[in-house]
Amino acid sequence: MKTEGQAKVYEAQRQHMVDHQLRARGVHDERVLAAFAKVPREEFVPEDLRPAAYEDRALPIGYGQTISQPYMVAVMLEMLDVHSDHTVLEVGAGSGYQAALLSLLAKQVYAIEIIEPLAHRARATLAALGYTNVTVLCADGTLGYEPGAPYDRIIVAAACPELPPPLVAQLKEGGRIVAPVGRRGVQECVVGVKRGEELEITKTLGCVFVPLVGAYGWKRRAW
Ligand code: SAH
Repeated sequence: MKTEGQAKVYEAQRQHMVDHQLRARGVHDERVLAAFAKVPREEFVPEDLRPAAYEDRALPIGYGQTISQPYMVAVMLEMLDVHSDHTVLEVGAGSGYQAALLSLLAKQVYAIEIIEPLAHRARATLAALGYTNVTVLCADGTLGYEPGAPYDRIIVAAACPELPPPLVAQLKEGGRIVAPVGRRGVQECVVGVKRGEELEITKTLGCVFVPLVGAYGWKRRAW
């Protein structure tokens, strides 16, 4: 439990993050910024790391995984261009933080996490904070999630060798997918827009994510 004083400190740190790490560095989407100003990131990191919750970096969440850097999440969410009537699929739910942001931007969110204890914890955190339009699933997200398809938007929060074909198949016509594509240490954030059978690809900034595993992910030796 947080005291009222602690809650105020986190709130001030959160607003500082929005102003200095996001807005000042070129994130302009007001809906994205408002979501960052609302979601308590400290609730999604291990208790001993809470004092570092609003530093602009990825933090360990256990099982060799991380909660992504806020700036990178903001840039990717801006590129994703989520509308309030959208159904969104997130692959790599991790702590559930990005799913919480997405829940404020979209109508319905499906968030898939392959590591069971992380999926459980993300589900519990999101429920405790009252994010009711997010469904957390424990499965291989490279296969997508057919019952929720087709999706207006898909975001992948782990480094892919290539865009997983099932995700492209589960995207709506005109829908958009944002994913880091590349290998250890050298990924590019890719934006794909579905136009019939084609995917219109734009490569954007460089980024560093943990590997996507599973059927269309990295095999341990190749990564
Ligand atoms: N979005 C998360 C951070 C993601 S870290 C957050 O806001 O905290 C990337 C996550 O992707 C890790 O938790 C990892 O276990 C998960 N992951 C890797 N491969 C996956 C797959 N095939 N399906 C679902 N999740 C996967």
